[in-house]
Amino acid sequence: MKKHFYAVAALVLLAFTSSQTLAQKTYLHCGTLIDGIGDKAQTEMTVIVSGNQILAVEKGYATPEAGAQVIDLKNKTVLPGFMDMHVHFESETSPNAYAEKLSLNQGTMAFRAGNYAERTLMAGFTTVRDLGGSGINIQLRNAINQGLMRGPRMFVVGKAISGTGGHMDPTNGYNDQLMGDPGPADGVANGVDECRKAVRQQYKNGADLIKIAATGGVLSVAKDGSGPQYSEEEIRAIVETAHDLGMKVAVHAHGAEGMKRAIRAGVTSIEHGTLMDEETMKLMKKNGTWYVPTLTAGKSVADSAKIPNYYPPLVTPKALAIGPQLQGTFAKAYKAGVKIAFGTDAGVFKHGKNAKEFEYMVEAGMPAMEAIKAATLHAAELVGASDKLGSVQKGKLADLIAVDGDPLQDIKTLQQVSFVMKDGKVYKQ
Ligand SMILES: [Zn+2]
Repeated sequence: MKKHFYAVAALVLLAFTSSQTLAQKTYLHCGTLIDGIGDKAQTEMTVIVSGNQILAVEKGYATPEAGAQVIDLKNKTVLPGFMDMHVHFESETSPNAYAEKLSLNQGTMAFRAGNYAERTLMAGFTTVRDLGGSGINIQLRNAINQGLMRGPRMFVVGKAISGTGGHMDPTNGYNDQLMGDPGPADGVANGVDECRKAVRQQYKNGADLIKIAATGGVLSVAKDGSGPQYSEEEIRAIVETAHDLGMKVAVHAHGAEGMKRAIRAGVTSIEHGTLMDEETMKLMKKNGTWYVPTLTAGKSVADSAKIPNYYPPLVTPKALAIGPQLQGTFAKAYKAGVKIAFGTDAGVFKHGKNAKEFEYMVEAGMPAMEAIKAATLHAAELVGASDKLGSVQKGKLADLIAVDGDPLQDIKTLQQVSFVMKDGKVYKQ
Protein backbone atom coordinates (compact mmCIF):
# COMPACT_ATOMS: atom_id res chain seq x y z
CA MET A 1 0.00 0.00 0.00
CA LYS A 2 2.76 2.37 1.05
CA LYS A 3 4.80 1.43 -2.02
CA HIS A 4 1.80 2.20 -4.20
CA PHE A 5 1.49 5.61 -2.57
CA TYR A 6 5.14 6.48 -3.25
CA ALA A 7 4.80 5.35 -6.87
CA VAL A 8 1.78 7.60 -7.37
CA ALA A 9 3.49 10.49 -5.59
CA ALA A 10 6.55 10.10 -7.82
CA LEU A 11 4.37 10.07 -10.93
CA VAL A 12 2.49 13.17 -9.84
CA LEU A 13 5.77 14.94 -9.05
CA LEU A 14 7.17 13.93 -12.44
CA ALA A 15 4.07 15.14 -14.26
CA PHE A 16 4.19 18.42 -12.34
CA THR A 17 7.90 19.11 -12.97
CA SER A 18 7.68 18.18 -16.64
CA SER A 19 4.66 20.43 -17.19
CA GLN A 20 6.63 23.19 -15.47
CA THR A 21 9.72 22.72 -17.62
CA LEU A 22 7.72 22.07 -20.78
CA ALA A 23 5.60 25.22 -20.43
CA GLN A 24 7.05 27.60 -22.96
CA LYS A 25 8.34 30.83 -21.51
CA THR A 26 7.28 34.13 -23.00
CA TYR A 27 9.38 37.28 -22.58
CA LEU A 28 7.42 40.51 -22.82
CA HIS A 29 9.72 43.45 -23.51
CA CYS A 30 7.81 46.42 -22.09
CA GLY A 31 8.80 49.96 -23.09
CA THR A 32 6.88 51.23 -20.07
CA LEU A 33 5.41 49.17 -17.25
CA ILE A 34 2.74 50.28 -14.79
CA ASP A 35 2.73 47.34 -12.38
CA GLY A 36 -0.33 48.26 -10.29
CA ILE A 37 1.75 48.55 -7.10
CA GLY A 38 4.28 51.33 -7.60
CA ASP A 39 3.41 55.02 -7.77
CA LYS A 40 5.52 55.53 -10.89
CA ALA A 41 5.80 53.82 -14.25
CA GLN A 42 9.05 51.96 -14.97
CA THR A 43 10.79 51.97 -18.36
CA GLU A 44 12.53 49.15 -20.25
CA MET A 45 11.25 46.17 -18.30
CA THR A 46 10.84 42.46 -19.03
CA VAL A 47 7.94 40.36 -17.77
CA ILE A 48 8.61 36.62 -18.06
CA VAL A 49 5.52 34.43 -18.28
CA SER A 50 5.42 30.66 -17.95
CA GLY A 51 2.12 28.83 -18.36
CA ASN A 52 -0.53 31.08 -16.83
CA GLN A 53 1.80 32.72 -14.31
CA ILE A 54 4.22 35.59 -14.10
CA LEU A 55 7.58 33.96 -13.43
CA ALA A 56 9.64 37.15 -13.04
CA VAL A 57 9.69 40.90 -13.58
CA GLU A 58 13.15 42.20 -14.48
CA LYS A 59 14.80 45.53 -15.24
CA GLY A 60 16.04 45.95 -18.81
CA TYR A 61 15.21 43.85 -21.87
CA ALA A 62 16.25 40.36 -20.70
CA THR A 63 17.73 38.02 -23.31
CA PRO A 64 15.31 35.14 -23.82
CA GLU A 65 16.53 31.64 -23.09
CA ALA A 66 16.57 29.12 -25.95
CA GLY A 67 13.10 28.19 -27.20
CA ALA A 68 11.37 31.10 -25.46
CA GLN A 69 8.95 33.36 -27.27
CA VAL A 70 9.44 37.14 -27.29
CA ILE A 71 6.65 39.70 -27.52
CA ASP A 72 7.89 43.15 -28.44
CA LEU A 73 5.93 45.79 -26.50
CA LYS A 74 8.82 48.30 -26.51
CA ASN A 75 6.58 51.02 -27.97
CA LYS A 76 3.78 50.37 -25.51
CA THR A 77 2.73 50.86 -21.91
CA VAL A 78 2.01 47.52 -20.25
CA LEU A 79 -0.44 47.29 -17.34
CA PRO A 80 -2.16 44.59 -15.28
CA GLY A 81 -5.39 43.35 -16.94
CA PHE A 82 -8.25 45.66 -15.98
CA MET A 83 -11.01 44.51 -13.62
CA ASP A 84 -14.55 45.90 -13.94
CA MET A 85 -16.45 45.28 -10.70
CA HIS A 86 -19.90 45.90 -12.18
CA VAL A 87 -21.11 44.56 -15.53
CA HIS A 88 -24.22 42.78 -16.80
CA PHE A 89 -23.34 40.45 -19.67
CA GLU A 90 -26.90 39.30 -20.24
CA SER A 91 -28.14 42.64 -21.51
CA GLU A 92 -27.22 45.77 -23.40
CA THR A 93 -29.05 49.08 -23.57
CA SER A 94 -31.52 49.60 -26.41
CA PRO A 95 -34.97 51.17 -26.73
CA ASN A 96 -36.25 47.61 -27.30
CA ALA A 97 -34.71 46.21 -24.11
CA TYR A 98 -37.95 46.29 -22.11
CA ALA A 99 -40.08 44.61 -24.83
CA GLU A 100 -37.32 42.04 -25.40
CA LYS A 101 -37.68 40.80 -21.82
CA LEU A 102 -40.84 39.06 -23.08
CA SER A 103 -39.71 37.98 -26.55
CA LEU A 104 -36.08 36.90 -26.25
CA ASN A 105 -35.29 33.21 -25.98
CA GLN A 106 -32.61 32.19 -23.51
CA GLY A 107 -30.41 30.88 -26.30
CA THR A 108 -30.35 34.30 -27.97
CA MET A 109 -29.55 35.91 -24.64
CA ALA A 110 -26.69 33.45 -24.13
CA PHE A 111 -25.16 34.06 -27.58
CA ARG A 112 -25.37 37.80 -27.06
CA ALA A 113 -23.79 37.48 -23.62
CA GLY A 114 -20.89 35.59 -25.18
CA ASN A 115 -20.40 38.38 -27.69
CA TYR A 116 -20.46 41.05 -24.95
CA ALA A 117 -17.95 39.07 -22.88
CA GLU A 118 -15.52 38.80 -25.80
CA ARG A 119 -15.84 42.53 -26.55
CA THR A 120 -15.05 43.27 -22.91
CA LEU A 121 -11.95 41.08 -22.91
CA MET A 122 -10.71 42.70 -26.13
CA ALA A 123 -11.11 46.12 -24.46
CA GLY A 124 -8.52 45.03 -21.88
CA PHE A 125 -10.80 43.81 -19.09
CA THR A 126 -9.49 40.41 -18.05
CA THR A 127 -11.71 40.11 -14.94
CA VAL A 128 -15.26 41.25 -14.20
CA ARG A 129 -17.95 40.87 -11.59
CA ASP A 130 -21.27 40.17 -13.33
CA LEU A 131 -23.71 41.73 -10.89
CA GLY A 132 -26.94 40.17 -12.03
CA GLY A 133 -28.91 38.54 -14.80
CA SER A 134 -31.10 35.47 -15.09
CA GLY A 135 -28.43 32.87 -14.35
CA ILE A 136 -27.11 32.54 -17.91
CA ASN A 137 -24.17 34.56 -16.55
CA ILE A 138 -23.21 31.53 -14.41
CA GLN A 139 -23.23 29.25 -17.48
CA LEU A 140 -21.17 31.83 -19.38
CA ARG A 141 -18.55 31.89 -16.61
CA ASN A 142 -18.31 28.10 -16.80
CA ALA A 143 -18.00 28.12 -20.60
CA ILE A 144 -15.21 30.72 -20.43
CA ASN A 145 -13.41 28.73 -17.73
CA GLN A 146 -13.67 25.62 -19.91
CA GLY A 147 -12.11 27.49 -22.83
CA LEU A 148 -15.28 27.27 -24.94
CA MET A 149 -15.82 31.04 -25.08
CA ARG A 150 -13.53 34.07 -25.09
CA GLY A 151 -14.18 36.40 -22.19
CA PRO A 152 -12.86 37.78 -18.91
CA ARG A 153 -12.60 35.63 -15.78
CA MET A 154 -15.95 36.18 -14.08
CA PHE A 155 -17.15 36.53 -10.50
CA VAL A 156 -20.88 36.06 -10.87
CA VAL A 157 -23.99 36.96 -8.87
CA GLY A 158 -26.49 34.86 -10.81
CA LYS A 159 -29.79 36.60 -10.10
CA ALA A 160 -29.76 39.67 -7.86
CA ILE A 161 -32.13 39.71 -4.87
CA SER A 162 -34.74 42.29 -3.87
CA GLY A 163 -38.14 42.58 -2.20
CA THR A 164 -41.49 42.35 -4.02
CA GLY A 165 -41.72 45.33 -6.39
CA GLY A 166 -38.09 46.13 -5.53
CA HIS A 167 -35.48 47.16 -8.06
CA MET A 168 -34.58 43.58 -9.06
CA ASP A 169 -38.09 42.10 -9.09
CA PRO A 170 -38.09 40.62 -12.61
CA THR A 171 -41.83 41.19 -13.16
CA ASN A 172 -41.97 44.94 -12.45
CA GLY A 173 -44.16 46.68 -14.99
CA TYR A 174 -45.76 43.48 -16.31
CA ASN A 175 -49.54 43.26 -16.69
CA ASP A 176 -51.38 41.58 -13.82
CA GLN A 177 -51.69 38.26 -15.65
CA LEU A 178 -47.94 37.99 -16.24
CA MET A 179 -46.85 39.53 -12.95
CA GLY A 180 -47.53 36.52 -10.73
CA ASP A 181 -45.85 36.31 -7.34
CA PRO A 182 -42.13 35.57 -7.81
CA GLY A 183 -40.34 34.18 -4.75
CA PRO A 184 -36.85 33.46 -3.39
CA ALA A 185 -35.97 31.14 -6.32
CA ASP A 186 -36.57 34.10 -8.67
CA GLY A 187 -34.54 36.46 -6.50
CA VAL A 188 -37.57 38.04 -4.81
CA ALA A 189 -37.49 37.68 -1.03
CA ASN A 190 -39.38 39.33 1.84
CA GLY A 191 -38.58 38.85 5.51
CA VAL A 192 -35.62 37.16 7.13
CA ASP A 193 -36.47 33.55 6.20
CA GLU A 194 -37.06 34.24 2.52
CA CYS A 195 -33.91 36.35 2.38
CA ARG A 196 -31.86 33.44 3.71
CA LYS A 197 -33.51 31.10 1.23
CA ALA A 198 -32.84 33.41 -1.71
CA VAL A 199 -29.13 33.55 -0.83
CA ARG A 200 -28.93 29.77 -0.47
CA GLN A 201 -30.66 29.34 -3.82
CA GLN A 202 -28.07 31.52 -5.59
CA TYR A 203 -25.29 29.57 -3.88
CA LYS A 204 -26.88 26.33 -5.08
CA ASN A 205 -27.15 27.75 -8.62
CA GLY A 206 -23.39 28.38 -8.62
CA ALA A 207 -23.10 32.10 -7.80
CA ASP A 208 -19.77 33.45 -6.51
CA LEU A 209 -21.27 36.38 -4.63
CA ILE A 210 -24.61 37.94 -3.73
CA LYS A 211 -26.12 41.20 -4.95
CA ILE A 212 -29.12 42.89 -3.40
CA ALA A 213 -31.12 46.03 -4.05
CA ALA A 214 -31.14 48.03 -0.82
CA THR A 215 -32.94 50.92 -2.51
CA GLY A 216 -34.96 51.66 -5.61
CA GLY A 217 -33.16 52.03 -8.92
CA VAL A 218 -33.27 53.94 -12.17
CA LEU A 219 -34.02 51.34 -14.83
CA SER A 220 -36.70 49.30 -13.03
CA VAL A 221 -40.29 50.07 -14.07
CA ALA A 222 -41.21 51.44 -10.64
CA LYS A 223 -41.80 54.91 -9.32
CA ASP A 224 -39.16 55.37 -6.66
CA GLY A 225 -35.45 55.32 -7.50
CA SER A 226 -33.77 55.87 -4.16
CA GLY A 227 -35.88 54.93 -1.11
CA PRO A 228 -34.88 51.97 1.10
CA GLN A 229 -36.31 48.58 0.07
CA TYR A 230 -34.96 46.26 2.74
CA SER A 231 -34.94 46.47 6.52
CA GLU A 232 -31.59 46.27 8.29
CA GLU A 233 -32.74 42.97 9.76
CA GLU A 234 -33.33 41.50 6.30
CA ILE A 235 -29.96 42.70 5.01
CA ARG A 236 -28.23 41.28 8.10
CA ALA A 237 -29.82 37.87 7.40
CA ILE A 238 -28.58 38.05 3.80
CA VAL A 239 -25.05 39.01 4.83
CA GLU A 240 -24.81 36.34 7.56
CA THR A 241 -26.08 33.62 5.22
CA ALA A 242 -23.77 34.74 2.40
CA HIS A 243 -20.75 34.83 4.72
CA ASP A 244 -21.55 31.33 6.01
CA LEU A 245 -21.38 30.18 2.38
CA GLY A 246 -18.14 32.06 1.66
CA MET A 247 -19.78 34.79 -0.41
CA LYS A 248 -19.49 38.56 -0.32
CA VAL A 249 -22.48 40.92 -0.73
CA ALA A 250 -22.63 43.75 -3.28
CA VAL A 251 -25.38 46.31 -2.78
CA HIS A 252 -27.21 48.39 -5.33
CA ALA A 253 -28.09 51.68 -3.61
CA HIS A 254 -28.91 55.27 -4.57
CA GLY A 255 -30.40 56.69 -1.36
CA ALA A 256 -28.42 57.21 1.86
CA GLU A 257 -30.79 55.42 4.25
CA GLY A 258 -30.60 52.15 2.31
CA MET A 259 -26.80 52.45 2.14
CA LYS A 260 -26.48 53.02 5.89
CA ARG A 261 -28.60 49.97 6.71
CA ALA A 262 -26.49 47.86 4.35
CA ILE A 263 -23.15 49.14 5.63
CA ARG A 264 -24.16 48.56 9.26
CA ALA A 265 -25.24 45.03 8.28
CA GLY A 266 -21.72 44.33 7.02
CA VAL A 267 -21.96 44.30 3.21
CA THR A 268 -18.79 44.40 1.08
CA SER A 269 -19.54 47.06 -1.54
CA ILE A 270 -21.97 49.86 -2.33
CA GLU A 271 -22.73 50.16 -6.05
CA HIS A 272 -23.64 53.60 -7.55
CA GLY A 273 -24.08 55.29 -4.13
CA THR A 274 -25.55 58.35 -5.81
CA LEU A 275 -27.03 60.22 -2.84
CA MET A 276 -24.30 59.20 -0.40
CA ASP A 277 -23.98 61.82 2.35
CA GLU A 278 -21.02 62.61 4.61
CA GLU A 279 -22.34 60.41 7.40
CA THR A 280 -22.49 57.47 4.97
CA MET A 281 -18.92 58.10 3.84
CA LYS A 282 -17.75 58.08 7.46
CA LEU A 283 -19.61 54.85 8.08
CA MET A 284 -18.03 53.26 4.99
CA LYS A 285 -14.54 54.24 6.14
CA LYS A 286 -15.21 52.88 9.62
CA ASN A 287 -16.49 49.55 8.24
CA GLY A 288 -14.04 49.26 5.34
CA THR A 289 -16.92 49.18 2.84
CA TRP A 290 -15.97 49.55 -0.83
CA TYR A 291 -17.51 52.06 -3.21
CA VAL A 292 -18.04 51.07 -6.87
CA PRO A 293 -19.10 54.32 -8.58
CA THR A 294 -20.39 53.33 -12.11
CA LEU A 295 -20.01 56.89 -13.45
CA THR A 296 -20.43 55.77 -17.06
CA ALA A 297 -23.88 54.39 -16.22
CA GLY A 298 -24.91 57.69 -14.63
CA LYS A 299 -23.83 59.68 -17.70
CA SER A 300 -25.33 57.27 -20.23
CA VAL A 301 -28.77 56.86 -18.62
CA ALA A 302 -29.08 60.66 -18.43
CA ASP A 303 -28.15 60.89 -22.16
CA SER A 304 -30.50 58.09 -23.24
CA ALA A 305 -33.37 59.62 -21.23
CA LYS A 306 -33.20 62.70 -23.45
CA ILE A 307 -34.14 60.55 -26.49
CA PRO A 308 -37.97 60.47 -26.68
CA ASN A 309 -39.46 57.07 -25.72
CA TYR A 310 -36.06 55.46 -25.14
CA TYR A 311 -37.18 54.41 -21.64
CA PRO A 312 -40.68 53.66 -20.24
CA PRO A 313 -42.40 56.78 -18.78
CA LEU A 314 -41.69 55.76 -15.16
CA VAL A 315 -37.95 55.42 -15.85
CA THR A 316 -37.19 58.66 -17.73
CA PRO A 317 -37.56 61.14 -14.82
CA LYS A 318 -35.46 58.90 -12.55
CA ALA A 319 -32.67 58.69 -15.14
CA LEU A 320 -32.67 62.48 -15.54
CA ALA A 321 -32.66 63.10 -11.78
CA ILE A 322 -30.16 60.48 -10.59
CA GLY A 323 -27.75 60.01 -13.52
CA PRO A 324 -26.07 63.44 -13.49
CA GLN A 325 -25.38 63.35 -9.73
CA LEU A 326 -23.02 60.38 -9.66
CA GLN A 327 -19.79 62.08 -10.68
CA GLY A 328 -20.14 64.74 -7.98
CA THR A 329 -20.69 62.08 -5.34
CA PHE A 330 -17.64 60.18 -6.57
CA ALA A 331 -15.48 63.33 -6.26
CA LYS A 332 -16.61 63.83 -2.65
CA ALA A 333 -16.17 60.16 -1.71
CA TYR A 334 -12.65 60.12 -3.16
CA LYS A 335 -11.69 63.26 -1.23
CA ALA A 336 -13.20 61.79 1.93
CA GLY A 337 -10.96 58.71 1.60
CA VAL A 338 -13.61 56.06 0.90
CA LYS A 339 -12.10 52.88 -0.63
CA ILE A 340 -12.93 52.92 -4.35
CA ALA A 341 -12.90 50.05 -6.85
CA PHE A 342 -13.52 50.54 -10.57
CA GLY A 343 -16.95 49.54 -11.87
CA THR A 344 -19.07 50.75 -14.77
CA ASP A 345 -22.46 48.96 -14.94
CA ALA A 346 -21.66 47.99 -18.57
CA GLY A 347 -24.84 46.77 -20.21
CA VAL A 348 -26.55 49.98 -19.14
CA PHE A 349 -24.29 51.33 -21.93
CA LYS A 350 -22.51 49.37 -24.69
CA HIS A 351 -20.19 46.56 -23.62
CA GLY A 352 -16.54 47.15 -24.46
CA LYS A 353 -16.70 50.87 -23.64
CA ASN A 354 -15.75 50.19 -20.03
CA ALA A 355 -12.51 52.23 -20.12
CA LYS A 356 -14.49 55.45 -20.59
CA GLU A 357 -14.95 55.25 -16.80
CA PHE A 358 -11.24 56.12 -16.30
CA GLU A 359 -11.80 59.40 -18.10
CA TYR A 360 -14.75 60.30 -15.87
CA MET A 361 -12.80 59.38 -12.72
CA VAL A 362 -9.86 61.57 -13.70
CA GLU A 363 -12.22 64.38 -14.76
CA ALA A 364 -13.66 64.28 -11.21
CA GLY A 365 -10.25 64.78 -9.62
CA MET A 366 -8.74 61.32 -9.17
CA PRO A 367 -5.12 61.08 -10.37
CA ALA A 368 -4.63 58.73 -13.36
CA MET A 369 -2.46 56.31 -11.38
CA GLU A 370 -5.13 56.05 -8.65
CA ALA A 371 -7.82 55.36 -11.26
CA ILE A 372 -5.65 52.59 -12.75
CA LYS A 373 -5.13 51.08 -9.29
CA ALA A 374 -8.90 51.18 -8.67
CA ALA A 375 -9.24 48.89 -11.72
CA THR A 376 -6.34 46.59 -10.80
CA LEU A 377 -4.84 46.41 -7.30
CA HIS A 378 -7.94 47.61 -5.44
CA ALA A 379 -10.44 45.63 -7.50
CA ALA A 380 -8.42 42.49 -6.78
CA GLU A 381 -8.68 43.31 -3.09
CA LEU A 382 -12.45 43.75 -3.38
CA VAL A 383 -12.95 40.31 -4.93
CA GLY A 384 -10.57 38.73 -2.41
CA ALA A 385 -8.02 37.66 -5.04
CA SER A 386 -5.04 39.87 -4.20
CA ASP A 387 -2.77 36.82 -4.20
CA LYS A 388 -3.53 36.11 -7.88
CA LEU A 389 -4.76 39.28 -9.58
CA GLY A 390 -4.37 43.04 -9.78
CA SER A 391 -0.64 43.60 -10.31
CA VAL A 392 2.33 42.61 -12.45
CA GLN A 393 4.36 40.65 -9.94
CA LYS A 394 6.07 37.29 -9.67
CA GLY A 395 3.56 34.55 -8.86
CA LYS A 396 0.48 36.42 -10.07
CA LEU A 397 -1.66 35.17 -12.95
CA ALA A 398 -0.44 36.45 -16.32
CA ASP A 399 -3.24 38.94 -17.05
CA LEU A 400 -1.49 41.74 -18.96
CA ILE A 401 -2.60 44.41 -21.37
CA ALA A 402 -0.89 47.20 -23.32
CA VAL A 403 -1.78 50.55 -24.86
CA ASP A 404 0.18 52.63 -27.37
CA GLY A 405 0.37 55.94 -25.50
CA ASP A 406 1.08 57.11 -21.97
CA PRO A 407 -2.09 56.84 -19.86
CA LEU A 408 -0.55 58.95 -17.10
CA GLN A 409 -0.41 61.86 -19.57
CA ASP A 410 -3.64 61.07 -21.43
CA ILE A 411 -6.10 58.78 -19.68
CA LYS A 412 -8.08 58.33 -22.92
CA THR A 413 -5.33 56.06 -24.29
CA LEU A 414 -6.81 53.33 -22.06
CA GLN A 415 -9.80 53.26 -24.43
CA GLN A 416 -7.54 51.85 -27.20
CA VAL A 417 -6.06 48.63 -25.86
CA SER A 418 -3.76 46.99 -28.41
CA PHE A 419 -2.55 43.89 -26.54
CA VAL A 420 -4.44 41.49 -24.27
CA MET A 421 -3.09 38.45 -22.44
CA LYS A 422 -5.31 36.54 -20.01
CA ASP A 423 -4.07 33.57 -18.02
CA GLY A 424 -0.87 33.53 -20.09
CA LYS A 425 -2.75 33.30 -23.38
CA VAL A 426 -2.60 36.12 -25.96
CA TYR A 427 -6.05 37.22 -27.18
CA LYS A 428 -5.11 40.43 -28.97
CA GLN A 429 -1.83 41.55 -30.48
ZN1 LIG B 1 -25.95 47.16 -12.42
